Amino acid sequence: MTTRTVLVINSGSSSIKYQLVDPDSGASLASGLVERIGEPEGAIKHKHGEDVTELTGPVADHGAGLTEVLRLFDEKGPTLTEANIVAVGHRVVQGGKHFSGPALIDDDVVATIERLVPLGPLHNPAHLKGIEVGRKLLSDVPHVAVFDTAFFQDLPEEAARYALNREVADAYEIRRYGAHGTSHQYVSGVVADMLGRNDLKQVVLHLGNGASASAVVGAHAVETSMGLTPLEGLVMGGRTGDIDPAAVFHLTRVAGKSVDEIDHLFNRESGMKGLAGDNDMRAVWARINAGESQAREAMDIYLHRLVKYVGAYTAVMGGLEALTFTAGIGENDANLRAELCERLAYMGMRIDGEANALHSAEARIISTPESTVTVLVVPTNEELAIARQAMTLVQG
Ligand code: AMP
Repeated sequence: MTTRTVLVINSGSSSIKYQLVDPDSGASLASGLVERIGEPEGAIKHKHGEDVTELTGPVADHGAGLTEVLRLFDEKGPTLTEANIVAVGHRVVQGGKHFSGPALIDDDVVATIERLVPLGPLHNPAHLKGIEVGRKLLSDVPHVAVFDTAFFQDLPEEAARYALNREVADAYEIRRYGAHGTSHQYVSGVVADMLGRNDLKQVVLHLGNGASASAVVGAHAVETSMGLTPLEGLVMGGRTGDIDPAAVFHLTRVAGKSVDEIDHLFNRESGMKGLAGDNDMRAVWARINAGESQAREAMDIYLHRLVKYVGAYTAVMGGLEALTFTAGIGENDANLRAELCERLAYMGMRIDGEANALHSAEARIISTPESTVTVLVVPTNEELAIARQAMTLVQG
């Protein structure tokens, strides 16, 4: 079969992350990052095999950034024609209740993503920039939007609906949309394949700078920890996760803070950063090892939240057969995995210390054969998942 590739674009407010993926083999042919778009000194890094090109200099806007990336593909390879590019896949965080799967991008889809900006104010405007310049500069191939919320579109209503006044909730589309759905779907699919089961009751813990948990039965998500926005749920690098919304009233009335200030406080200055002084888990462990009691307390709060979610999701599913760790912390932090599983030992969960300590980029089982729950580490690969979904949509 001739190689077919998909260019996956994750466009941020001042960055464009990209990867050229062969969805059939799963290989990444090239990847790169444009950073600090619109700032005086931008940077572009393009990787093709062992060959890495780094450029610095101003990148005026997303259009200029992508033009430069396409030039690098031509100059440094692989050329997109040689690579037989058949689609461009765009990551989109917020699809609201409109998209339960990938969508072929046309003007209507763009208008809908635009209409959803109030629900995804940090992400959707940036994705729209990437889509606009992408469609202009790569007009020969179809463009596909893959939504972070899609996997959670079929959450049972009892999980998706808040107990908020129905009229207000419906008028303003306030419900639990979830996020990281592409990762949860991909990882739970890998677990089902590895264990050879399509009816598993599983929990996936996507623990990165942003963090979320999902409960998946068979191929369907039945619960997830992120809500209307990615603020809800687990303790994260800089986000509070669950907090009584009355804290907002209190900070408004008593501390005189504005909504924007509270937004910043909850989304950027809280979580591990606000509790331990650092949002990077490696730095938090270093503080713990140096004897900082607040860092240890922060870790306990982080773990306590995870114990609550795993327990709650086990109850929701009526059992738990597989627990999987993914993303930056989930894939790399053996200490944290060991401490969490120790706290879950009441379930009959048993970790194999050696397997857990192993550093590997492979998906693997880290529990003992006696463990009542299979515990796994599965590296997430959102780019591959986006490429596969885009390919399936355009070529079947
Ligand atoms: P992500 O958002 O998935 O890219 O994850 C980024 C986060 O992973 C960083 O902020 C770190 O907290 C965490 N991380 C990366 N490597 C390690 C490691 N070796 N040990 C602990 N945490 C790590």
